[in-house]
Amino acid sequence: MNEQTSMSDSPIIEARNLSVHFSVPGKGFRKHERQTVRAVHDVSLSLKPGKTLALVGESGCGKTTLVRALSLLIKPTAGEVHFDGTDITHYKHRQLRPLRRQIQMVFQDPYSSLNPRMPVGSLISEPLVIHGIGNRNERRDKVAELLVSVGLNADIMNRYPHQFSGGQRQRIAIARALALDPNLIILDEPVSALDVSVQSQVLNLLQDLQEKLGLTYLFIGHNLTVIRYIADEVAVMYLGEVVEHAETQELFSNPRHPYTQALLRAAPVHGVGKRKHTTQLKGDPPSPLAPPPGCSFHPRCPAAQDICATKEPVFEDVPNHAGHRAACHFKDQVPT
Ligand code: SF4
Repeated sequence: MNEQTSMSDSPIIEARNLSVHFSVPGKGFRKHERQTVRAVHDVSLSLKPGKTLALVGESGCGKTTLVRALSLLIKPTAGEVHFDGTDITHYKHRQLRPLRRQIQMVFQDPYSSLNPRMPVGSLISEPLVIHGIGNRNERRDKVAELLVSVGLNADIMNRYPHQFSGGQRQRIAIARALALDPNLIILDEPVSALDVSVQSQVLNLLQDLQEKLGLTYLFIGHNLTVIRYIADEVAVMYLGEVVEHAETQELFSNPRHPYTQALLRAAPVHGVGKRKHTTQLKGDPPSPLAPPPGCSFHPRCPAAQDICATKEPVFEDVPNHAGHRAACHFKDQVPT
């Protein structure tokens, strides 16, 4: 985990009561009615500079939609996005352009995220060309510098992605993400498509770059072993909502939400690199088209009581645990 302390604790990016709801056509006998998908609902969280916040949860829990809303690739339905202290929720495309330089992404699959027809030098310099930065020679020097910074040789610029291993391709993708000197990098499951033996090398590289460049990471993942290794804070999402948020050590040693507890029980115990786990929870997550009343987790919760089916729990501080918040009526009672 990165121990670096930042000069300022003001968030780089912040979601305030952020919601993203989609209107979709109904199905079957309701096909003429519009229905609402509650992809993200009333999420508040912030990223401190130089730190890593991990978003975890099952597939379809809203992690990717939240990230897209935070980077304003989709417009939120409600709530606000603040970047570096400024409310950017209603910025127009032109206003967002300079901000987009500061937010870059690294995707899960380096095989599909890099254009196979472009040589490495062009792939990495493309963002510089798009933003009109430097002349040809300056861009070439910058690409060489970036390749070295991710542990590759500068002389591979004329080679193509298919000539590299998965780990090397992910390093190329990281070099490309660094080209515009971003503040924030969104890492969307950046090691889950890699061989187990390579995963820790890429994680170590990400940590080294963070310390050296003061980067802030938003890490999307489901492998809790990886998250425990890399994250400073963890936000657990269920059905479009953040149900628990705490510093990593606190969350792993004192999980207060039954969903987090189930995720932790199912996680591999040793070593970075196990790819899959099952949650040991009964049933599948409910449809975001029709979230259950009360606590949305109650149909699957082993600790549910009558109140859970009717009253929505408030996402609030866990008593006597500063900075630890959870949405559960019994957050100070459920055994870990
Ligand atoms: Fe389980 Fe009830 Fe807590 Fe929801 S509020 S997580 S159903 S105990």
